[in-house]
Amino acid sequence: MTRIVIAGGGLSGLSLAAHLAVADHRHPVVVIDDGSRPVVTRAWASWSCGPGLLDAAACRWFDKIRVHVNGRTSVLPLGRYRYRVVRGEDLVAVVRRFTDPLRHFTFQDGHVDGVAEGGVIVDGQFLRARWVFDSVIGAEPEPPADAQLVFRGWRVTSERAAFDAEVPTLFDFRTPQRNGASFVYVLPEDAHHALVEHTSFAAPGTPQDETAQRNALAEYLSEVAGAGDYEVGSEEHAVLPLRAARPSRRLGHVLTIGARGGLLKASTGFAYQRVQADSAAIAESMHRHGHPFDLPEAPARFRLFDGVLLDVVTQEPAQLERAFGALFRYRTAEPALRFLDEATSMPQEWQLFAGMPAATYLAAARHRLASK
Ligand SMILES: Cc1cc2nc3c(=O)[nH]c(=O)nc-3n(C[C@H](O)[C@H](O)[C@H](O)COP(=O)(O)OP(=O)(O)OC[C@H]3O[C@@H](n4cnc5c(N)ncnc54)[C@H](O)[C@@H]3O)c2cc1C
Repeated sequence: MTRIVIAGGGLSGLSLAAHLAVADHRHPVVVIDDGSRPVVTRAWASWSCGPGLLDAAACRWFDKIRVHVNGRTSVLPLGRYRYRVVRGEDLVAVVRRFTDPLRHFTFQDGHVDGVAEGGVIVDGQFLRARWVFDSVIGAEPEPPADAQLVFRGWRVTSERAAFDAEVPTLFDFRTPQRNGASFVYVLPEDAHHALVEHTSFAAPGTPQDETAQRNALAEYLSEVAGAGDYEVGSEEHAVLPLRAARPSRRLGHVLTIGARGGLLKASTGFAYQRVQADSAAIAESMHRHGHPFDLPEAPARFRLFDGVLLDVVTQEPAQLERAFGALFRYRTAEPALRFLDEATSMPQEWQLFAGMPAATYLAAARHRLASK
């Protein structure tokens, strides 16, 4: 039996299907999704510094971002990076372009009840497979969450031209800091339409204060963005557990992918670009070795950095603004994005950290290392 099953046809399942299709896999691939989180209603934004297989799915590309930190607004060019937006419906269409001509790719509706060596249980039936890529069940036990990212976003239509259509705001700290370390993110469509999102890093289990989040969004729109009258078309919200430790991904012929595989970057909550890189590496490993386990691992220090940052900001929320201010203090955002992509050298990291309170971070690092 050489069948490959991909459990979950969301971001990671679809991305992997496309990468396997171009890697010339002859084995049957079945992608199973129960529709509980329909991809077509979703969108992902992310930065990248090179071409990717699914680039045709991007509906917007930006070459600058805005940040407002430590009382100052800056518009930063992205250097070699670009920031892009991918809508779920476009992702599906582009993935289908790779997979539809290949008869051995099928997309099946079904609920995955369990994943095991040798196959998956779908709607109570065992489906045999040689390889299972699991984005829905995940390995147990998961590492403990170090923090949670709580966000609530509104798709807004404003009466006034309140948004800069060419420049997304990655973070703007002009919002109350009562419920953890908070900032507002703005992804513009044009001068009158944008996704405006209130985002907080908080200690795991901190209860959500929906009213405070909505009040903060309303205050930002009227007092900071100058939106005038506005309408909220739709609202999205989520609480993402942030884990610096990587979960165990491999069990026999099962590999966990996507957020369940630890692909969510713990200090940002972004996963899109990491999922693309992971999908490409899995397909390459399958092609070269006939197994999916030859995957690159970033140096362990990046997980330590993420964990330390989360420890510091959950204890002392004001440190988030300071840390982002230090990382994004250059004339371009490239050094910060390269660091967040875990692609910096140690000397570059020491330069980036120079604006942060060394004693606070060293104490947190010592504590984290000692409690391992
Ligand atoms: C609201 C929100 C917005 C986000 N925005 C961004 C962003 O802009 N940029 C970014 O980089 N990251 C973002 N993230 C983080 C991350 O990129 C996403 O969570 C991403 O979708 C994770 O991919 P995944 O494949 O692991 O999970 P998903 O994309 O959620 O895919 C899981 C799929 O499995 C299906 N499913 C679930 N359970 C079962 C089951 N038992 N059986 C069968 N099918 C099942 C679901 O229908 C879904 O299609 C966001 C996360 C959230 C929650």
